[in-house]
Amino acid sequence: MAEKLPSYVAGGWKAGAGEGETVHDAVTGEEVARMSTEGIDFARVLDHARTAGGPPLRAMTFHQRAGLLKALAQYLDGRKEELYTLSPRTGATRADSWIDIDGGIGTLFVYASRGKRELPDDTIYVDGGVEALGKRGTFVAQHLYTPLAGAQVQINAFNFPVWGFLEKLGPAFLAGVPTIVKPASQTAYLTEAVVRQIVESGLLPGGALQLIAGGVGDLLDHLTGQDLVAFTGSARTAAKLRAHPAVVEHSVRFNAEADSLNASILGPDAGPDTPEFGLYVDQLVTEMTVKAGQKCTAIRRAFVPVRWLDPMADAIRAKLETVVVGNPSSEGVTMGSLVSLAQREEVRGAIERLAGGATLVAGDPGKVDAVDADTDRGAFLAPILLRAEDGSRDEPHQVEAFGPVSTLIGYGGTAEEAVTLAARGAGSLVGSVVTADREFAREVVLGVAPWHGRLLVLDRDDAKESTGHGSALPHLVHGGPGRAGGGEELGGIRGVLHHMQRTAVQASPNVLARVTGRWVEGADRDESGTHPFRRHLEELNVGDGITVGPRTVTLEDIEAFADLTGDRFYAHMDQEAAAANPFFDGRVAHGYFIVSAAAGLFVDPDPGPVLANYGLENLRFVKPVYPGDAITVRLTAKAISPRGTDPHGEVTWDTVVTNQDGEVVAAYDVLTLVAKRPV
Ligand code: NAP
Repeated sequence: MAEKLPSYVAGGWKAGAGEGETVHDAVTGEEVARMSTEGIDFARVLDHARTAGGPPLRAMTFHQRAGLLKALAQYLDGRKEELYTLSPRTGATRADSWIDIDGGIGTLFVYASRGKRELPDDTIYVDGGVEALGKRGTFVAQHLYTPLAGAQVQINAFNFPVWGFLEKLGPAFLAGVPTIVKPASQTAYLTEAVVRQIVESGLLPGGALQLIAGGVGDLLDHLTGQDLVAFTGSARTAAKLRAHPAVVEHSVRFNAEADSLNASILGPDAGPDTPEFGLYVDQLVTEMTVKAGQKCTAIRRAFVPVRWLDPMADAIRAKLETVVVGNPSSEGVTMGSLVSLAQREEVRGAIERLAGGATLVAGDPGKVDAVDADTDRGAFLAPILLRAEDGSRDEPHQVEAFGPVSTLIGYGGTAEEAVTLAARGAGSLVGSVVTADREFAREVVLGVAPWHGRLLVLDRDDAKESTGHGSALPHLVHGGPGRAGGGEELGGIRGVLHHMQRTAVQASPNVLARVTGRWVEGADRDESGTHPFRRHLEELNVGDGITVGPRTVTLEDIEAFADLTGDRFYAHMDQEAAAANPFFDGRVAHGYFIVSAAAGLFVDPDPGPVLANYGLENLRFVKPVYPGDAITVRLTAKAISPRGTDPHGEVTWDTVVTNQDGEVVAAYDVLTLVAKRPV
């Protein structure tokens, strides 16, 4: 009898009572593991996440969490062969496993790097600018994000036991929210292996991660409004869990990634002699066979102009004939098995329903030749291509066969028709358009966008670098409306913010500056002490600043700047033409001269802690500066970000340039790198 897979709960490994449910090897049918969560106290699991996991995570800055994620990704990367050894038991080939294992670890790397680059070295995330709510500037507001105080409960599908877990862990961890993962039973042994490695690494604070191997018992009954559920699986289960009384009662954030009938549209221009035709064939066959088609993003509906249906069917059939089905560990095999015999029966049933409105073009659902495998014990299925002459029937738009199955559907060749047909999927994770006709691409993309989370336009120009229809990327939103679950995962930092609460804080400028740690207009400034450029990072406080000027801008300045830069735009050089311009009364100084002259006023020239100016943000030239105007610049340290263990940090300086009447002529943020005090 196979070993019982333990859960990792409340800081220890615990196998449930009883015999448990048995999981079989997808290829050989042997027992792989048994699972039971009988006797696990699920209220305690949630409590452990909230009380042991949450506080240390929330005490860390985004950069500290990003650093841990990177270390974790490196740790797993060094031990991934163990996972590759286990993965074929799920029916996955080495290439399939790469998407799951390296894809999952890669997602952690991406989140680590984006967290470091795009989030502050702080525990909160400030959203947008300060809103001035009163005329006198004493009442202002700011939106900010703080981590939710509960747990992320992941409930995952069987097809990506590693990626599906890590792609949700990365953003939640970066946000400061602990995770409880419940993998699909069928492939939970692979997720358990990853969790075991993570626990062994000792990198994550206790309580930051727990694993439930088996059923979730009454876990969901204990959810509160501070918890989130991140579900991936069938639309049926999503609907059921979304309606769970605790989820409804406490408005628990429920993100669902469900099944979807993704479409790929061949443009009317893409006849058999074009590169796009070949790209379409390759892409469709890839999507049908990678993971034996058990991919939520796979192409289920392949829309092809009616006049290209015959050559397309022939080309795909020919390519499918080169697919070698069999034991995923055997040499030369290009497609493994489905995850279980039960899943194969389910897919066969779906094929039968699809065949009600279509004919079989390639593959036999009842028979398959499989290399080094017993097809009665292993869940092998031949790739199945169906063909529907027109798209008016319901079946291809409603039935998901979660396996190596696609339906070719003819359409007249207009963008309008393609959009109408694609929309019949009622919401998809991803769609693609394969065409070299930019107008057709534009019409289809804008037409189908409301039904999709992601869209790929594939043509000869981007094909070489394209990551493909089916690849969910950490940089891009993964999710889709309607049938696809209505959720959104990933999408870079967007995916992190799902785990945080956005709050509008209204207060006086001084209180707001204290709360956010950023100086805001109207808050106290401090101009005492040495020039702020002479201070190391630790010696600077937000609100420290300097006011310098005035400097009178002359016609000679303008001409010298024009000579130096070659910028002889008439508004600076020609009095009459400038005066005819609706915005100016005559020749004006170059905006870039004002920015340069302002720097000339505020910089401290000698070598010191300020190492470099790496950019400007939010630059606006608000009013023209005429010869004879006198400018003054006010510089204030707005945000200070120490950047972990680096020898320097970033300082953002709020910069305002005014004229002799106190009117703002330019405003911007100067971004600098400032050294820490040498140790
Ligand atoms: P599923 O049967 O809906 O199961 C999904 C998860 O929900 C599993 O972990 C399952 O656990 C759990 N679950 C089922 N009933 C539950 C309940 N009453 N309470 C708590 N948890 C429960 O889906 P599946 O068969 O694993 O996956 C295939 C489906 O997922 C396909 O339809 C596919 O399109 C979809 N999918 C979508 C995405 C996406 O990103 N959008 C990705 C992959 C798959 P057990 O395994 O223990 O039953």
